[in-house]
Amino acid sequence: MISKKRALAMIDIIANMFPDAECELKHNNAFELTIAVLLSAQCTDNLVNRVTQSLFKKYKTPEDYLGVSDEELQNDIRSIGLYRNKAKNIKKLCRSLIDQFDGQIPQTHQELESLAGVGHKTANVVMSVAFGEPSLAVDTHVERVSKRLGINRWKDNVRQVEDRLCAIIPRERWTKSHHQLIFFGRYHCLAKKPKCEMCPLLEDCREGQKRYKTSLKEE
Ligand code: SF4
Repeated sequence: MISKKRALAMIDIIANMFPDAECELKHNNAFELTIAVLLSAQCTDNLVNRVTQSLFKKYKTPEDYLGVSDEELQNDIRSIGLYRNKAKNIKKLCRSLIDQFDGQIPQTHQELESLAGVGHKTANVVMSVAFGEPSLAVDTHVERVSKRLGINRWKDNVRQVEDRLCAIIPRERWTKSHHQLIFFGRYHCLAKKPKCEMCPLLEDCREGQKRYKTSLKEE
């Protein structure tokens, strides 16, 4: 693994590339954000936004979701992967909100993670984006980027990636860095075709060097 100092210098370069990075899931409040993040598991934000555009017009409260049949809700989110399971979790989540939290999204990690379909990453996103608590959620992009750059080892699990990034990045930058690392992974260091040839981190990136040298040999 590279040193913390070197890792932070790389993260600073990424921050300069995407200074305005922010949550791309469209929402108007913490409830809608929670539903959107739940729907986004193994699915692109673009597709979730297309679905929630009409979903959030039809369903405004937990009661609205509980007022329709399972089949109707499934139908409304059918274009999203794992829609049956996600519809089931949305209904369970809404039931818990009404029974335990006065119909509101709770504002602690522990309470959030007690909700159906809400894991550690989703709770981190909701706490940071909806409630302004510094948090560094690790999704597939953050994990890939961190490992490619040598900030983490390939064998590290998601929690180890989060811990290492939080140890390197100042707390007040966690939320912004989360979005910047996602943008970097989504638009530059792509899973299948990273843009190594035009990457400002190429010189320091072992993965990039490997890929770049291979591509030169193939030319
Ligand atoms: Fe990603 Fe390539 Fe840049 Fe490394 S050099 S960070 S693999 S785009």
